[in-house]
Parts: sequence; C-alpha cells; structure tokens
Amino acid sequence: MQALSHLLDAAGADRYRLAVADGAQRVARRITAAGRPFTGISPARLAADIDTIDLDHPLGDTTAALDELDRVYLRDAVYFHHPRYLAHLNCPVVVPALLGETVLSAINSSLDTWDQSAGGTLIERRLIDWTTRRIGLGPLADGVFTSGGTQSNVHALMLARDEALDRFACSAGDLRIFASEYAHFSVTKAAKLLGLAEDAVISVPGTADRRMSPEALRRSLAACREAGLVPMAVVATAGTTDFGSVDPLPQLADLCRRTGVWLHVDAAYGCGLLVSRRRRLLDGIERADSVTVDYHKSFFQPVSSSAILVRDRAVLRHATYHADYLNPKRAAEEQLPNQVDKSPQTTRRFDALKLWLTLRIMGPDAVGSLFDAVVDLADAGWRLLDGDPRFEVLVRPQLSTLVFRYLPSSDMDAEEADAANLYARKAIAESGEAMVAGTVVDGRHYLKLTLLNPRTTVDDIGTVLDLLAHHAETYANTSVGSSLVAA
Ligand SMILES: *Cc1c(COP(=O)(O)O)cnc(C)c1O
Repeated sequence: MQALSHLLDAAGADRYRLAVADGAQRVARRITAAGRPFTGISPARLAADIDTIDLDHPLGDTTAALDELDRVYLRDAVYFHHPRYLAHLNCPVVVPALLGETVLSAINSSLDTWDQSAGGTLIERRLIDWTTRRIGLGPLADGVFTSGGTQSNVHALMLARDEALDRFACSAGDLRIFASEYAHFSVTKAAKLLGLAEDAVISVPGTADRRMSPEALRRSLAACREAGLVPMAVVATAGTTDFGSVDPLPQLADLCRRTGVWLHVDAAYGCGLLVSRRRRLLDGIERADSVTVDYHKSFFQPVSSSAILVRDRAVLRHATYHADYLNPKRAAEEQLPNQVDKSPQTTRRFDALKLWLTLRIMGPDAVGSLFDAVVDLADAGWRLLDGDPRFEVLVRPQLSTLVFRYLPSSDMDAEEADAANLYARKAIAESGEAMVAGTVVDGRHYLKLTLLNPRTTVDDIGTVLDLLAHHAETYANTSVGSSLVAA
C-alpha cells in the first residue's frame, strides 16, 4: 500500500528527514528574502487562490505541494521576524525552540499521562518548578503548561472560583472578579465561560500611569461586600497589553491578604522580566495565588507555549477527574505522574520541550537580554516620540509598547485626528512597509507599537513614524484620504 510510505516509522525516517529539510529550506529562503513584514495582499485576492484548490485531488508530490504552499501562504505571510513588524504581541522566535518544535511534533508525546510521555512529563515538571522558583511561589507550588494566556487565565479563575465556592456559603452568581480597566479581555471571557454573572468582572480604575489604583481597588472590594456579594479574585496585570504597565503588585498583594481574596497575576506579557535585569519590576508576584505566563510572548518561543502556576498545588484538584481508561484513581495512588490530573485538557502537546532546549542551548540570561533590549528600545522610542511635534505620546513605557497618535497641532479636531490615525494604520499595512497596531484610549483612536524584536532599531522606529505621519498628513490634506477611509 502506497499510503504506508507516508508514515513516520523505520521505513519513512529518511523521507521525514528530507521533507522537513525541504520545508525548512523554503522557510529560510522566505525569511532571508522578506523585504517587508507583509505584502499587503487583501483577503479576497488570497482567497481566490486558496478556495480553488481541490482538496480531494492531492498533488502527490512534496515539491509540488511546497511550491503551492509558497504561493498561497509563505509569499504573503505576516513576518514577525521583520524589524518593522511592530503590531501585536508576537515575537521573533529563537532557533533552539524551533528545533524543539520539530522534535516534539515528530515524537508526538502526549503529556496527559506518564504512559504517553515518560521523560516528557518529567521535563515539563522541571520547567514548571524552574518557573515557580523564578517567581518565588514557595515549596508547595506547581502548575501546568497550557496553550496560551487566555487558557491560563480561564484555568486560574476556575481554581479561584472553586476555592471561593468551597470556602464561602454563596452561589457562583454572587462572585466578583476585580481587574483594572487595562486588564486583558480574556478575564471577561473567563467569567462568562465559568458561568459567573454577566457583571461579574468589576473594572477597577487606573492611575495616570495606567496601573490599577490600590485605593480604588480597596473601595471596590468594600462596596462589593456591602452589596452582599463575594470577591472571588483580584486579577493584577504584570504587563498590560496596551501599555505594558505593571500593576502595583506589593500593594495589591497586601490588600488581598488582608481581605482573604485570591490574587491572580496575569504576567502573560511581563513574564520575560523573570529572566531580565529588570526582575524587580515583578516584586510582589511571589505573593500571588496563581500566575499566568506566556513564554510565546516574552521568552521568544513559537506559539503555543504558556503556563499557569499556583502557590498551593492542592488547588489543582479542581481539574482532577479519573477515567478508568486513562488515569484511574489507582494510578494516582501509585503516584504515577499523570499531568492530566492538573489540566482541563486531555491530549496535550509537549510544548515544554521548546523552552527546555532554549534554556539548555541559550540559557535564561540570553533570553532575558533579548527582552531587555526591546525594553531599552521602547524607552528610546518614547524619547523620540516625546520630542516629535507631529505626535502625542502617552505614558513612558515600563515594558515595550508605545501608544501615541498623530496630532501635529492643537487645532486639529479630535474627529479628524481619529480618522487620520485610522487611515495611517491602514495605509501602512496595505503598503506592507510596516505593521503597527491601534487601540482606543479614552474614546480616541491611537496607534500602538509593540516592540518584541531585538533587531528593530531606533532608526526603524523613526522610519515608521515618518511613514505614519506621511499617510496621516495625506489624509488630512486631501479628500482622496477621506474617500479611502469611507471605502
Ligand atoms: C496576550 C495576553 C493574554 C492572552 O494570551 P494568549 O496567549 O493570546 O491567549 C492574556 N493577558 C495578557 C496581559 C496578554 O497580553
């Protein structure tokens, strides 16, 4: 049977080696040649190519399939390694992690049970321990890898919910979560998935530097109690998605301890500080009950690579269920390390291998130096923007984002400025010269640079600012601009 030759087994090992080398070759060629982060192609044009491919008629040939893939994907992909990709929280990835990715998908261990993973489980456990030690969570800490920050946040809040329901005589509808107005939207999604009330997430106002105000939190907690409701968790953000601001963790931890409320620290973005020379920005994180980290953001790992860590491993029991065919109670009694006992997922990738090879080849300090480089760059970018009369820039960054907008004079009205900035973002993406993000602050449209590429220079930022100003100016000066946005 011809199909058998496609299996990775003893007979297919050579074919596997060659196919992966072929694929890597194509990627390397595109990475080397990419002169822009994006070609600016429209979804309609790309769909015309992809939708007409007949999936019931295989090409039967690796080279032909890679040629086709080059045309429908690699040619027009968005390249995060490019120094002018400055949009979302996507990092360029390190080669040791890609090596890990190749190995883990080929061996295809599944980390739900020991009998599907062996050493994979022990490696994951070592990395969880390594991370909890870096955080300082104490001797009872534990955790598990997840697919991303969203999943880690849902998982952490599920544990907080179940702890609250165990401890207090209340129903899920009474529980409230406190997060700053700058917290990630996955907190709200989590509340919905966890069956909490529609208004379960209370948005705590921030201070001028876009961090949660402890005083405002204190008042919110008191008001919640007065209303007969139950504070379930405070979600502190260590690196907000828009501003990179780190909530005042020591003060929030004090408040949580005093009031007996679960403290979750969402360090999806800020976790890179754990290996950086700015580690003290995370002071107080060691007092959390649970922590989210996204290695695929500030540890330069490919998607997906994230973890949830907890101070007290006993709380992980809220995700423990036994199945006779997979992880019978007997196995737990024999102390077989079955990670499924800690995770809402069953079949689970050995993502930990990417971080393992990264630490074994590069080491933590090297990863930290990459993150420090982008934080330094953001500060240089802030100074550039602060001295540029074409732009208004918000808060000096603690991490690596810049939120600003084109506003060359105080007599440009707010609506016009909104439209000009929206236009500039769209125009620069369509040209493919750079990718920048956008956000809304106090009802107005801003532009955002998320700097995660240590190869990006201050000159790159300057070039992008010139391009943005040029597009915004074109918009402001011509009716061509307004008709384009309308279209
Ligand atoms: C990115 C991010 C998340 C979500 O993480 P995913 O890996 O995208 O699911 C959660 N919280 C913060 C603060 C983030 O920046």
